[in-house]
Amino acid sequence: MNRLQLSRRAFSQALLVGGAIAPMVWTPNAAAQAAPFELPALPYADGALSPVISAATVAVHYGKHHKSYVDFLNNAVKDSARWQPFAGMSLVDIIRASAGKPEHTAVFNNAAQLWNHTFYWRSLRPAGKADMPAQMSAAINDSFGSMEAFRKELATTTIGQFGSGWGWMVQDPANKKLKIVRTSNADVPLTQGLKPLLTIDVWEHAYYIDYQNRRADYVNALIDQLMNWDFALKNMA
Ligand code: MN
Repeated sequence: MNRLQLSRRAFSQALLVGGAIAPMVWTPNAAAQAAPFELPALPYADGALSPVISAATVAVHYGKHHKSYVDFLNNAVKDSARWQPFAGMSLVDIIRASAGKPEHTAVFNNAAQLWNHTFYWRSLRPAGKADMPAQMSAAINDSFGSMEAFRKELATTTIGQFGSGWGWMVQDPANKKLKIVRTSNADVPLTQGLKPLLTIDVWEHAYYIDYQNRRADYVNALIDQLMNWDFALKNMA
């Protein structure tokens, strides 16, 4: 297809990925993410995170785990009586509507895990050193006092999550301050009124092939080499 034949929207999306024609760009509040659900394309090649995260890990983590949450929801939609409370809702609305409701635990877990993983892949960028945007460093210094303090809090909070879960850099909409929080299993700070900026998956499936039990090595390598600060900045209010 010639670029001139593309819609203006498709053209601007194509530009975002360096000229390759990309599918629709995912955004954290994408209202378009409603049933039937899709597995959003990775924003880079399977091996782009190597050697910090191997292509083998991406193949299982994205191709099997992330996909399983999509498959669960699309099966759940078929039971129209049980799905009725969520009919027509966007993914984020499903997460909010099912959170904390024991009768909707399975829907919450799979909807939140679909969202969390899509957010996780975008929290990462191809391996290598990337400069942090000045606006992000300023916000970090303002909220944490120093880059070192921020880095330490992100690492220790994330590494210290007991069992499966997530480490998050979030923004508190009440005062615009940045914070580090962790959540268990599928829980997501969206349901606590916090705005996610970046996340690190510390379920064992995220690192066991590459790091076995060395969670700290995985988390530190991610923070040092793969964090997508541009994505975090885009998510900031
Ligand atoms: Mn995961």
